[in-house]
Amino acid sequence: MRIALQVILLIEIIVLCVCIHFARKSDKPIARSVRLLIASLIPAIFGNVIIMGAVSKPVAEVGMYIYFIGMDLIMACLLKFTLDYCYYSWDNKVLINSVYSLLGIDIIQILLNPVFGHTFASKELEVGGLPYFEVVPYAGQIYHRVVIYGFLFACLILFAVKSARSSRMYRERYMTMLASMIFTSIWESFYILSGTPVDTSMIGFGIFGVLVFYFALYYKPVFLISSMLESIASGLSEALFFFNEERVCIWANEKGLDLFGIKKNEVDKVNSRLLDAFPEMAGTDDEWAGDHISGSRDNRKYYHIEKHIAKDNDDRGRINGFFVSVRDNTEAQKNLEKERYIARHDSLTGLYNKETLYRMIPELLKAHPDVPYQIIFVDINEFKMVNDVFGKDFGDYALRYISDWIIEDMTENCAYGRLGGDTFGICMPTGEFDPEAINGRLDSLEVRMGDKVHHLLVHLGIYPVDDPDLEVSIMFDRARMALNKIKRIYSHISYYNDQIRDEMLWNQQISAELSNAIKDGQIVPFLQPIVDAKSELVGAEALVRWIHPEKGNLSPALFVPEFERNGKIAELDKHMWRCAGEILKSWKQIHPDLFMSVNISPMDFYFVDIRSELNGIVRDCGIDHSRLRLEITETVMMNNSEERLETIRQLRSDGFIVEIDDFGSGYSSLNMLKDMPVDLIKLDMAFLQNSKGNERAKIILRSLIELVDTLGMDSLTEGIETKKQFEVLSDYGCRLFQGYYFAKPMPVSEFEEFCKAGATA
Ligand code: C2E
Ligand code: CA
Ligand code: CA
Repeated sequence: MRIALQVILLIEIIVLCVCIHFARKSDKPIARSVRLLIASLIPAIFGNVIIMGAVSKPVAEVGMYIYFIGMDLIMACLLKFTLDYCYYSWDNKVLINSVYSLLGIDIIQILLNPVFGHTFASKELEVGGLPYFEVVPYAGQIYHRVVIYGFLFACLILFAVKSARSSRMYRERYMTMLASMIFTSIWESFYILSGTPVDTSMIGFGIFGVLVFYFALYYKPVFLISSMLESIASGLSEALFFFNEERVCIWANEKGLDLFGIKKNEVDKVNSRLLDAFPEMAGTDDEWAGDHISGSRDNRKYYHIEKHIAKDNDDRGRINGFFVSVRDNTEAQKNLEKERYIARHDSLTGLYNKETLYRMIPELLKAHPDVPYQIIFVDINEFKMVNDVFGKDFGDYALRYISDWIIEDMTENCAYGRLGGDTFGICMPTGEFDPEAINGRLDSLEVRMGDKVHHLLVHLGIYPVDDPDLEVSIMFDRARMALNKIKRIYSHISYYNDQIRDEMLWNQQISAELSNAIKDGQIVPFLQPIVDAKSELVGAEALVRWIHPEKGNLSPALFVPEFERNGKIAELDKHMWRCAGEILKSWKQIHPDLFMSVNISPMDFYFVDIRSELNGIVRDCGIDHSRLRLEITETVMMNNSEERLETIRQLRSDGFIVEIDDFGSGYSSLNMLKDMPVDLIKLDMAFLQNSKGNERAKIILRSLIELVDTLGMDSLTEGIETKKQFEVLSDYGCRLFQGYYFAKPMPVSEFEEFCKAGATA
């Protein structure tokens, strides 16, 4: 029996050595502590082998020394292993050193036993007919046992605390260790307490070493892994279903149960529910992925479904089952749709925005190649004023009102949207558009918000699509061009035609050419004589002519209105004023009494410092201020009137003579007349023409001339074409005259000939 025990212990030592060997290969951080612990078991076991085999007392006692000191080593290594395994970090060096020194003291007192004999002695017994040497404990042995049990308990407590504190899935890791330690200590205690002579508990130490090796280094915590996987899978935002190879659902996560409204123990219903909900999955044996859309338009749901096969990891790849994941994409999809909607629509009116409309129109035209279409550019007139006067809220309301108004007439054959600001765009079949009805409705387009009411003036420029391949932006450019003539035609609707395009081209051309034309001397003054009541020449009006190398002699009507629109008139007028100055300068000797009138456009007041410009010319040419007369129109007074009036006063105080041109053609009233700080009122026969034969008009004309005279101003009538007109107006008291009756505007050289003839006449 003792031999058998010895053999078992020796085998254990070999097994432990093998464990140490394999532990060296492990790269786990705990491997070092494991190796040390296993190695520390060997001396104590070996000591027991000696004790059991000893036939003489000294040999047995050597075994006992090895065994006792070996136990100290075991405890030292066990404590280190426990701390490492349980992730206790023990930073207090003083404390840890004192704890370990308890073991050191024990070793020393054991080693001193041969001298003092205070720890133990041995007593020979006879066991199984052979001598057996048993330990006889003395006082030192008590210290030894206290230290050893103290360490052991400390380690047990550390493990117990750790396992109590850990979450359920980690507990297994500590419980296995705790159990094998308790098992070993009970065995050991049993030996000590039962008083059996031969110590078999060492077998327990060997087994403990192997258990530590296995659990610390090789054991895979299946429970831990599976519970981790389960907790991860449960928390996933996707619904997950696991199926065995028989296609029976064996597990579903929270989301999965929620998806079908079933309980944990009803997972076997999943298969049929899954196929009901996502029929496209039926008959898919392999891995599969797809999307599913369900629900009504307002309550649409979007799902992404994936099916994965679960195979063994080995080469044969046996199929274990499969799992299905279902992701609810509804939220993401709705956000995407919302973003798309925002990107394609105008936020205020909900209509398509310009970019989207521009994309849709070519598709629409392509889809209906045989239907005549038209592009409509919708513009709200003076919308800025609506905003300024009624406020932004009313402006927004008006825009929505117009947008609703547009939608009313739209069919599925139309495309429409907001182009930006106060403009909208429409592409619709010509046949669906009734211009007369629309015009009528536009006559009475009233926006009403609370007590605010405003009649919106809406204009439609229309381009009948004759070339569907044209860029949409060009189509709308053309429709917008048509708007330009709307003021002249007294309608809300105006059609684009090639004449409009030619006009635009013409305007662009002349605007681009102006500066060079001035430099090249193409822009010249023609002079039209001005005479007094005795038909004697007193001065001239400088009227611009463009002697164009290709287009011929252009009259101002062909370019002045455009330049007044784009502001280039300022450049032209400055040139004309200087020409007038130069001519007056050249006349200083020959016609010192003649004056020259120049035209000042209302736009000049925006773009030119008129006063310094004119004074500069007068100074440079060395002429008298009163020789240069300035013709301004009544419209100048309409805006910023105080500032304008001040400029005019200053011009007069500089010495210029200021005249009101085309009096009566604008909005001026007789009332304004008294405030106008001018020297002369110019009346145009063209405006008086309508009153031909009308006695009342004649009376007004006569009174006007008298009134002007009474207010201390001169009057001049232009557009005199007949002797009769001249006589009548002279009779009324008018003092100055201009018109074809006397002479048409003529080149300067011709005018000088005219002077000579007049002088000789
Ligand atoms: P306006 O200043 O009223 O010039 C008088 C216009 O009436 C001139 O036309 C002249 O040729 C024309 N006219 C003169 N007598 C008669 C007549 O008996 N019968 C008729 N039917 N017409 C007569 P024009 O030269 O074609 O100028 C047209 C307008 O162009 C001018 O009207 C003026 O507003 C503008 N304009 C001409 N030259 C200039 C200029 O240098 N600067 C600016 N800003 N405007 C100019
Ligand atoms: Ca004039
Ligand atoms: Ca005039």
